[in-house]
Amino acid sequence: MLTKIDHIGIAVHSLDESIPFFENVLGLTCEKIEEVPSQKVKTAFFAVGDVHLELLEPMSDESPIAKFLENKGPGVHHVAYQSDDVQNQLDHAAKEGCRLIHETPIDGAGGKKVAFLHPKSTFGVLSEFCSKNQ
Ligand code: ZN
Repeated sequence: MLTKIDHIGIAVHSLDESIPFFENVLGLTCEKIEEVPSQKVKTAFFAVGDVHLELLEPMSDESPIAKFLENKGPGVHHVAYQSDDVQNQLDHAAKEGCRLIHETPIDGAGGKKVAFLHPKSTFGVLSEFCSKNQ
């Protein structure tokens, strides 16, 4: 079952250049900066109520975020839904005919298990299922 919108992922060229906007203009606090090797990205998290913004900076040209920036430029990259059972959520989506990027969850930021659905199956919005904070 999906329990809430966990976070919105935003692709940026540089955390250093983008963090001041979120801190100074929006008045948010950067809670942590974390590298996610499985996605070759560096992330920065900001809480807005109980939803987070996740800024994503590519750590290499092979990062999916590098390709996204090349094709579309900076902007909203994905919406993440918190699920009480990511594997079950994936199995259900697949059974309903949804194309998956990950058939089983991978390690995401914050020790969460995450998996992505293909945007071709989700009306253009790259969608992530993630587990609760550990
Ligand atoms: Zn995410």
